[in-house]
Amino acid sequence: MDLADLYRDVIVDHNRSPRNRGRLPDACCHAEGNNPLCGDRLHLDVALDGDRIRDLRFEGNGCAISTASASLMSEAVKGRTRAEAAELFTAVHRMLTGEATDTAQLGKLAALAGVREFPARVKCATLAWHTLNAALAGGGAPVTTE
Ligand code: ZN
Repeated sequence: MDLADLYRDVIVDHNRSPRNRGRLPDACCHAEGNNPLCGDRLHLDVALDGDRIRDLRFEGNGCAISTASASLMSEAVKGRTRAEAAELFTAVHRMLTGEATDTAQLGKLAALAGVREFPARVKCATLAWHTLNAALAGGGAPVTTE
């Protein structure tokens, strides 16, 4: 099995069995994300403990990339501070736009690296992250990738 197969398996697994799916009754922040280009929709609930993301859940309908990305993101940022989550998003964004980045810090998120070959799908992969930013910024207006 080469790396591309491994990455594909991670995406298939997270799409079929998304982690942290559902709603969070004690969420302090939430946001809606929308990627009209593909039709991906996402609702994200976040519970904070001080500055730390204690828990998060997402719900929505979207393509395999958007669902897998939301699932991978939820695992990656749980337990992290806002600043750490923002740093991770920067690294993910660099990876998806083909800029050099330290993939060691990305862990399983590196499975999304192949998305950069399909520029139209980059928004599918970043939707969950934009929605997280909106939730942490206090929600309000739904975010859109357009
Ligand atoms: Zn999509």
